[in-house]
Order: sequence, then structure tokens, then C-alpha cells
Amino acid sequence: MKSSSLSKLLVAVLAVSFALLFTAACASTNATTAGEAPAKMKEISGRAPITGGLQRDGIEVVQDDFVVVAILDLGPGEVALVDAGNAQDAGPILSALARRGLGPEAVKAILLTHGDGDHIRGVPRFPNAEVMALEADLALVEGRAVKVPSRPAKPTGIAVTRALRDGEIVELGSVRIEVFAVPGHTPGSAAFLTNGVLFLGDSAGASVDGELLPGDPKHTVDQPLNRASLRNLAARLAPRASEIDLLVPSHTSALDRGLTPLLDLAARPEE
Ligand SMILES: [Zn+2]
Repeated sequence: MKSSSLSKLLVAVLAVSFALLFTAACASTNATTAGEAPAKMKEISGRAPITGGLQRDGIEVVQDDFVVVAILDLGPGEVALVDAGNAQDAGPILSALARRGLGPEAVKAILLTHGDGDHIRGVPRFPNAEVMALEADLALVEGRAVKVPSRPAKPTGIAVTRALRDGEIVELGSVRIEVFAVPGHTPGSAAFLTNGVLFLGDSAGASVDGELLPGDPKHTVDQPLNRASLRNLAARLAPRASEIDLLVPSHTSALDRGLTPLLDLAARPEE
């Protein structure tokens, strides 16, 4: 046998062996997956990217790179913000205000969903604003505490001027904003409900399938608590489901199927 024929034979034998091994591996993987996956558990794929520029009933959602900020109309020349974004110069918020002929002084209040840096960096650009956050996140907002214990605390230069409590209603002009504590992503994570829109901060996100997912596990301090808080929020809001049109997480697209995605998440078994 010539050496070229021999090597062809060897290649053929190897190819057949690999094909057999591959088939066996696939079969065993399928068997394991089928055996382990609970039949009623729904597969939900990745997170849906932010769609900025959303506007409805006096609420504008502004995209600041990978996070959103909301501008709430309070009346002529006055607005409030939900979060203040990641940009130190608050560029995207200032541009959105400029399109309305407003400057930074128009911002009368900033309601923080929590104290992570990417939600608070723009705060100092709005010196007229009352700064509000849930009591349990004050130290994080002000930089007296850290989320990751291995890092040192560093003052942020931001002072919270009004500590919020669960269940409280903040009235700004004619706008009412209800405050819900949803601890888990951070100890003082909040959800805010105003005019049919529920802001969820980092406590939840939308999937590309239009479902609601719990907060990103990589950045969540206490995942079981986050999940329990979402179930609790769903139970509190269920009797008022008809009031809610839109869910707005901070790092994904919004969901316009009312409270349903939150109710579905609460009913799903934990992954
Ligand atoms: Zn965030």
C-alpha cells in the first residue's frame, strides 16, 4: 500500500470515529437535558436592548448609553427625573431638556431607583433638585458604603435631601409618584409608579421575548431577596393591574403589556 493511500485510510477511520463519538455525546446531552428540565419551565432568552426616546403622557425615557433616565413633566418649565444616568456631564439629559428649551435648573427633583454609580453620576449637574432615595440606599448614594465589600467607600459628593419610605406617595406639582421598596439588587432599591408607568430600576429587565426577568445576577447583592421583592410587588399591584400600562427597567427595553410580565415572573418557578 502506498503511503498516500494509507494516510487517506487513516483520515477516513478518524472521521468515522469522531462522527460516532459526536453522535453519542449529543445523545447523552439530550437525554440529560430532557431528564432535568421541568416540563412547565419556560425557556427565556437574552435581555432586550434599550429603546430610547419613548414618550407618553408627560413622561420621556432618555437613553444614556447603557442606562435610561426618565423626565417627568411637572408643569410649565419644571421637571423631575427618575435617576440621573451614568454620564458625569449628564449630557443626554441636558440635550433632552434643551430640546424643550429648558436648562438644568428646571429639574426640581431626582428620584433614585438605587445608589449604583450608573444611576447617580449626573446628579451634581442639577443643583436645584431635591435628591430622593430609599433610606436603605442613602449610604450607597452618598458613598459612605459600598456594594462590593472589597472596595473602599468613596464620597460621591451627592447628598440625599429626602429619604423615602416604602408605600409613600411623593407629590410634585400635579404629579403623584408611588414608592415601593424592592430590596435585593441593593438594600434600598426602589420601584416608582406614576401615571401608569412602573419604573423598575435594576430589579428587573426585559427579555428579547418580551418577558420580565429578575435583576442581572452579576450585579445583584441578594438574588433570593430580589426575587421575593418582585413577587411582593406583583401581589401589591395585582388588584390595580388595570392602572399599569408600561414597565420600564433601567438597562433593557420597556414592556408595554401592562402588569402582565411582572405577574408572569412572580408565578414562574425560580430558575
Ligand atoms: Zn444599573
